Order: sequence, then structure tokens, then C-alpha cells
Amino acid sequence: MNVPFAIPDLGNQEIQEVISVIKSGWLTTASRCKQFEENFAKYVGAKHALAVNSATAALHLGVESMGADPDTAVLVPTFTFTSTAEVVRYFDAEPIFVDCEPDTFCISSDLIEQAYDHYKANNLPAKKIKIMIPVHFGGHPCEMNDIVALAKKYGLKIIEDAAHAIPTRYAAAESLQESNQIEGKLIGNTGDITCFSFYANKTMTTGEGGMLCTDNDDIAKRVQVMRLHGISRDVWDRFETGASWEYDIVAPGYKYNMPDISAAIGIHQLKKVEQFRDQRQKIAQIYFDELKNIPGLILPRLKCPKEFHSWYLFMVLINPEASKNGLTRDDLITELSKRNIGTSVHYKPLHRMSYYKNRYKLKPEMFPNAEWVFQRCVSLPMFSAMKENQLEYVIESIKEILL
Ligand SMILES: *Cc1c(COP(=O)(O)O)cnc(C)c1O
Repeated sequence: MNVPFAIPDLGNQEIQEVISVIKSGWLTTASRCKQFEENFAKYVGAKHALAVNSATAALHLGVESMGADPDTAVLVPTFTFTSTAEVVRYFDAEPIFVDCEPDTFCISSDLIEQAYDHYKANNLPAKKIKIMIPVHFGGHPCEMNDIVALAKKYGLKIIEDAAHAIPTRYAAAESLQESNQIEGKLIGNTGDITCFSFYANKTMTTGEGGMLCTDNDDIAKRVQVMRLHGISRDVWDRFETGASWEYDIVAPGYKYNMPDISAAIGIHQLKKVEQFRDQRQKIAQIYFDELKNIPGLILPRLKCPKEFHSWYLFMVLINPEASKNGLTRDDLITELSKRNIGTSVHYKPLHRMSYYKNRYKLKPEMFPNAEWVFQRCVSLPMFSAMKENQLEYVIESIKEILL
């Protein structure tokens, strides 16, 4: 048997819609994209949803819309994919790296505040800290109530990196203590900007693609212009209304629009996103039930109801002090790969990547939690189209290796 780490879950509707786009003769941004944006905005409850060709593009446009410049500093997790920090560097602005929680792998208001205070005390002349970019890691929501409060206290803007978080729900910790029947609100407009990814292995896909959501009209206007060359009117208006050939360039914008071929896939993926999530949760539940009580294996520890989690990742930790024969994370990956089971490591933290490490003189001891997690973490196969016998095979293999 062969179990990949993840594969996309595409059906006949996606195929038919793509065919109809191809037959229409209009492949780039037009009606399918507009439809996808409308459906997406409605679903997550944001005023504006702007489709782009990646989450990295969405993050870039988000940081741009907030006026980042070389005197800007931005708080970002170290425990994330490089996109979260690279978009800060596009403006020659400075990323300030924040450690993660050892259980949720997210950044918290306490950790952000520590990094904020440390930066202020140790970097003179300090750049102006203007933005923070929390990541809802693996699909677990960050404690947004505390983070929003902290942002208010320091006058910071929030760009949520929600690449893992469609659909992730959120409710304040206090309200969860009062009742466990809480529905939670979808991640989509809690921060000033929320960025989603439709990369091939994410919870829903358009092949490549992303969405920037915001309730702020000025941000939406700026992003709309900057995602397409700084043209002052959308390509849709320009070609579909046929009113005028005239357009203006108001800034050196980017080429980040989403083609209709991709949006056609997205429209149907979005319709199934809750169903995908339910399937992922079922898989997660079976992992929880079957893999408990294995020495040295630490299962996900949630700070939210499991219904709130998108289950993009099912990331476990291997503690070699307690595992059979001192087996490590790397040993488990090797053994699973020998059995044709795909895994992944999310992530080698940014403070270990040569660019960030050298440029900002980062040391592992500055990020004790991310280090602890990184040395132990492995993400198990998780995708909505996973077959029962594939899941059984993964579980049996893990037991064989670790018991
Ligand atoms: C996948 C991912 C991105 C980038 O998404 P793209 O759509 O590939 O640009 C950004 N941040 C995180 C945390 C991701 O996992």
C-alpha cells in the first residue's frame, strides 16, 4: 500500500466548470473569479474577498496596503512557512520573530508581548512596530481576543495568515469556559486582513491561489488596484462593460490576479469545504482513538473544541526520552517512508533558515518552544479523500514501529 502525505480532493463539478471556462474563450480574471469572491466573502462573513494567485501574494498586498517601509517592523512567528516573513522583507521592513506555544504551535498575546518588549529594549534605534501576522497553525485558531486586545493596546494592525484555516472557527476562551455548546465564528474578518491559501495541498485548492479578506473599504480598494499592475479599474470593468478603453496607472502594482480557470475550481471546492473538514475531523478522531497510550507519542493538544479546527494538519510529537529504543522523529519518518507512507515536517523554524538566521543573528535558544517542537514534530497523512484502509495502514504501521 501507498499513502501520500496529502492529495487534493477534486470532483466532476470542478472538471465541468473548468471545461466550460476553456470553452468560453475567456481564461483570465472575469465572471468565475467574481462569483468565487462573492461566495467566499459570504461564507466567511467578510465584507470584501479579493482573489489572488497565492496566499503569499495576499500577504504581500496586505503588508503593502498598510504602508510598510524600511522603518517598519512586523511581528511574525518563527514557527511558520517563509511566506509569512518574506513579504515583510519585500519592503526592506524588519521581521521580529515570535516563539510559539508548545501545545497549539500558535503565537499567543503573551509571546507577542515578550518579543515586542525585547525588541523595544534591545534594538536602538528601533523601527516602528506596526503590524503582526499571527498564523492559525495547522488549522488551530490563535487566541484572537487577546491578540486583538494587544493590537489595540500598542496600535498594531493584524494580518491573519489563515493559509491553514479554511474553515477554522474561533471563540474567546472565556466564552468557551461558560459553555461547550458554542458555535464559534469563522476566521475571515477577525484581524484587519485575513489571507487564505488554495495551494494544492491545502484544505481546499484552486491549484495555486489565495484570497484576501477585509472589512475595510480603503484596504480593499488599495488591494484591488495593486493586485493588477496599479490599474485604477478592474480588468472586469475594463473589458466587460465595454464602456471605455481608458485606464490609469496609479502605482507600480503587481500581477497577482486569479485566472478564471482557477476560480472555477475554487467555486466548487468552497461548496465542499465543510464536508472536507468533517472528513478530516473523522480521520483526526480515529488517529486520537487509535494512537493514544503509545509511549513517546504526543497527540495534538487543543485549546479549542475540535469542531473549531480545520484539521489541515495532524501533527504529532515524538519524545525520544519516552519512545521505544529512544526512537526519534527522524527515525519515525524513515520507518514510515520505508512502508510507503508520506509525512512532512511543519516547519523547520525560520530562525534556523540561513537567510533569517544570518541576517538577524538568530539563535535557537531565543525560541525554546519552537526548538522543542521542531525537534519532535511530524505531520501524519491527512486529506479528505483518504481511504479507510489507508488510514488503518498508517495506524498499524505506527503501532508496529512505536510499540
Ligand atoms: C502554504 C502557506 C502559505 C503560502 O501559501 P501560497 O498560496 O502557496 O502562497 C503561507 N503561509 C503558510 C503558513 C502556509 O502554510
